[in-house]
Amino acid sequence: MSQSAWQAVLERLDEAAELAKLDADVHRMLRTPRRTLEVSIPVRLDDGSVEVFTGWRVHHDTTRGPGKGGIRFHPDLDADEVKALAAMMTFKTAVLDLPFGGAKGGVRCDPRVLSAGELERLTRRFAYEISPLLGPETDIPAPDVNTDSRVMAWLVDTLSMVSGKNLAASVTGKPLSIGGSRGHTGATSAGCVTCARAAFRELELPMVGSRAVVQGFGKVGAPLAFLLTSAGMRVVAVSDIGGAVLNEGGLDTKGLSDHVAETGSVVGFAGGESIAGDALWDIDCELLVPAALGGCIDTVVAKRITADVVVEAANGPTTIDAQSVLDERGIVVVPDILANAGGVTASYFEWAQALQGYPWEEQLVAERLRQRMDTAFTAVWARAQTLDVGMRTAAHVVAVERVAAAIAARGLFP
Ligand code: NAD
Repeated sequence: MSQSAWQAVLERLDEAAELAKLDADVHRMLRTPRRTLEVSIPVRLDDGSVEVFTGWRVHHDTTRGPGKGGIRFHPDLDADEVKALAAMMTFKTAVLDLPFGGAKGGVRCDPRVLSAGELERLTRRFAYEISPLLGPETDIPAPDVNTDSRVMAWLVDTLSMVSGKNLAASVTGKPLSIGGSRGHTGATSAGCVTCARAAFRELELPMVGSRAVVQGFGKVGAPLAFLLTSAGMRVVAVSDIGGAVLNEGGLDTKGLSDHVAETGSVVGFAGGESIAGDALWDIDCELLVPAALGGCIDTVVAKRITADVVVEAANGPTTIDAQSVLDERGIVVVPDILANAGGVTASYFEWAQALQGYPWEEQLVAERLRQRMDTAFTAVWARAQTLDVGMRTAAHVVAVERVAAAIAARGLFP
């Protein structure tokens, strides 16, 4: 996300506020994050020197429940981006009707150049510095870009050691051995597939035999491609940072995963023809899933897309101007705050299981995830029809209405 990430969030909020006829005071409250904590994180490196990193934890709004949002490690991270991502979490949790507010955090660092020991010391010191904000009833972090279940384990251990209590419900995306949820891995991809299915149902398009194109073959894109194949679609092209691979008859997505596990890239896969990454946008398909980085669909790309439906697995893949192009062309976009909410929904289930001390079976997690995603899709679709707007605008309207209802019910303290 660029420097204007917060500005983009405000533009979407303002548009939704107008359509929802939002109370002006509530609108002003949502235009300002509730709290921002900036911390410095001194870390002893393996060579004995000390490097001081900067980190943030932001609560955008916590009216509907404790803050919820990931922790990101990235060299370009700044306060503006964390603020924007926290606000997106307020809207995402509201669209899914999860009892959470919006939060986000992270450290400006390049984890690729840190050893495992340095990464652990960085994570633990960061967790300690932001610990006044964290806890099962206040703010529950999860993995995000460049963080995973191992980082979450260090986080929950630090919070537990410092407080002298087992705080398993204070972090989600943990390993199964310390209270992670079955079905958490792959939940984002499964949620995207539920959205794709629902959009095809509304447009009366068949899933079976239709063509899908997936940009990005990582934690989200790879399982997603496999699930789309299982749903009967032909995944005709897939890309990663190195390039793309095409097979009009449908790629063997399991074989492609094995190839990526061996070589690190989709490039050179024998079951398809290698093409340039950028050529992906011109491939004929019914479904396009951006599952890589933000900002990849600009106005130029938007004019090249052939799909009937775009399901945004990535956060912020479509620029504001590109959205207008897609709207004009009648392409249905299932927006990120709905499409990729499967992960945070599984995180909600993990939190609930930790509070109950009662792990759920994988099938129960999968069924409840499917129901939640389908219900959210239906609410947004219906609002889009009533207001005669795209799904992104409708999702923001649904979200701000829910947050506004909570603010009205609680009243203004003191
Ligand atoms: P990841 O790092 O595991 O995978 C990213 C993939 O994108 C890799 O295959 C990479 O090679 C590819 N990629 C990077 N730059 C590219 C480019 N220019 N062109 C084509 N491919 C490129 O990340 P992830 O966890 O799969 O996340 C992907 C997106 O989904 C991100 O936007 C993330 O914010 C979003 N998201 C992820 C989750 C989750 O559960 N992991 C949840 C919600 C949203």
